[in-house]
Amino acid sequence: MSRVLTEHSIDHVVLERGEVGNSWRQERWDSLRLLTPNWLNRLPGYAYAGSDPDGFMNMTQLVDFITGYAADIAAPVRTHTTVTGVRPIEGGYQVATDRGEIHCRSLVLATGANNIPRVPDLHRAVPQAVQCLTTFSYRNPEQLPPGGVLVVGAAATGVQLADEIHRSGRPVTLCVGEHVRLPRSYRGRDILWWMEKSGVWNQRYDQIDDLERARRLPSPQLVGTPGHCNLDLNTLSGAGVEIVGKLAAIRDGRALFSGGLANQFALADLKMERLLDSFDAWARDTRVDAELGPVERLAPTHVPASTRLSLDLRSGEIGTIVWATGYRPDYRWLEVPVLTHKGELRHDGGVVTEAPGMYALGLPVLRRRKSTFINGAEADARELAKHLAAYLADRGRRMDASVAGAKA
Ligand SMILES: Cc1cc2nc3c(=O)[nH]c(=O)nc-3n(C[C@H](O)[C@H](O)[C@H](O)COP(=O)(O)OP(=O)(O)OC[C@H]3O[C@@H](n4cnc5c(N)ncnc54)[C@H](O)[C@@H]3O)c2cc1C
Repeated sequence: MSRVLTEHSIDHVVLERGEVGNSWRQERWDSLRLLTPNWLNRLPGYAYAGSDPDGFMNMTQLVDFITGYAADIAAPVRTHTTVTGVRPIEGGYQVATDRGEIHCRSLVLATGANNIPRVPDLHRAVPQAVQCLTTFSYRNPEQLPPGGVLVVGAAATGVQLADEIHRSGRPVTLCVGEHVRLPRSYRGRDILWWMEKSGVWNQRYDQIDDLERARRLPSPQLVGTPGHCNLDLNTLSGAGVEIVGKLAAIRDGRALFSGGLANQFALADLKMERLLDSFDAWARDTRVDAELGPVERLAPTHVPASTRLSLDLRSGEIGTIVWATGYRPDYRWLEVPVLTHKGELRHDGGVVTEAPGMYALGLPVLRRRKSTFINGAEADARELAKHLAAYLADRGRRMDASVAGAKA
């Protein structure tokens, strides 16, 4: 957004509570690599220029990439400046920070979608002897106490952590609810190449039938590894991870899992098939078929002969629970009545219509399916900056008119 505001000659400042790239420095586990390939992580006027465009950055490389970008565009970032309050004032907003106050006419909330791990209330019933970790407090398998590990959630984070912890030699049980299954590569191309080229990733928010649902979809079961491997439930169960249903309750120290895994698997497989069918149709229609490998399909997700429906958390079998149940944004500092009762921001494609001059960036399916990814920032920022520039120009005209009126 800073780069695009500069293109519009809009004077601005970027406030950051930590260092540039703070969330990647502070809030991720040690082994994490992006699941988006290097060539895809484009920012306005900036792209990966290294020797491994198909590879996946680790956190050190990503922080270097983002700090390099901030320097390249001379972004006016004030680091170590935490926003502690925002409230409306005549003609704009008053922004309180731990380093003083700022008044602005317009404000972009780019504080991220993943500020707080989302942990279900039932965590309160976990017996004391079991250690609970979130995706913010988990760093690596060495920090875990002895015993098995229950990983709750099978989106990108859950499957990656289940895999890593299982490889460290601990028994892992993975709780699986609704999930999105994708192959890493399809017909010789990375799955995100297909997402981008076919236009699926670019689908606009106002063309999506059930936007609320699209915004709540779990992240796809993908991992970025040098071997470009698949990481789905078949890979995990084949390696020895125990798959159980969604964690439905914890009662008297027993974790109770939903049945119906076969249905969950069938649904995820069906959606993956449909997506791949749509890719095939796109490849036929655009005549890129000849450059691609043959049509291929993954085996359906294997349904175990029987699955446990409960597990005694007091038996000592499980030493740790890792909650990989998603994230939510944190707007506790926003003293403007634009939040739902769940603390979510009300906005129309990033325009906070109830608060003139206020915008949001980086939220799920904000203006496009790709909005929450690094690659999605550019298109959204360009459209929002255009709106913001028009808003400031209109406001300027009105002020000029009222000054002229007062003089007359
Ligand atoms: C585990 C994980 C893996 C991911 N993997 C990928 C991937 O492979 N590829 C991809 O494209 N995307 C990935 N994402 C999504 C990724 O987070 C976004 O693409 C990207 O970080 C969005 O950038 P952002 O600037 O909007 O948010 P963030 O990167 O979260 O940045 C928000 C910034 O705001 C700062 N901030 C927050 N509150 C305040 C405050 N009150 N005052 C001052 N500063 C504040 C934070 O310190 C932070 O630096 C992943 C997300 C997670 C959680």
